[in-house]
Amino acid sequence: MKNVVREMTLATLNDAEFIDITEKVRLILESSLIQNGQLTVITQHTTTAIIINEKETGLQKDMLRFLNRIVPKSGDYEHDLTPIDGRINAHSHLQSLLLTTSQVVPVIDGKLKLGAWQSIFFVELDGPRPNRQVILQILGE
Ligand code: ZN
Repeated sequence: MKNVVREMTLATLNDAEFIDITEKVRLILESSLIQNGQLTVITQHTTTAIIINEKETGLQKDMLRFLNRIVPKSGDYEHDLTPIDGRINAHSHLQSLLLTTSQVVPVIDGKLKLGAWQSIFFVELDGPRPNRQVILQILGE
């Protein structure tokens, strides 16, 4: 079995946004030459997420609105009283808590086994940031 590990660096441009990384993941999978197995994609940050959902501009706006409705920017947050890194970002951590930090996708015949309407998104919740890291691990033959 092969174990291929790659890093993807992303620059985010907004305080919160969904970035479709499906094509980048597909290219990394292709370069791994693995035909059958599984691919894990995980963010390295606590105020981001990796999700799989439909790519549609209106829906991405709805998703951001949904997150902001559940966890508004300002609240009675302890984390904002003593920010370790100087960032007021309790809401970003809490929004991230509602999502997922990683996804696993089956690799079959050299392709990501995603549904017709499924895309892989990196979700920024505390941007903009010049250097967001995503790790991919592809295991298989
Ligand atoms: Zn924080």
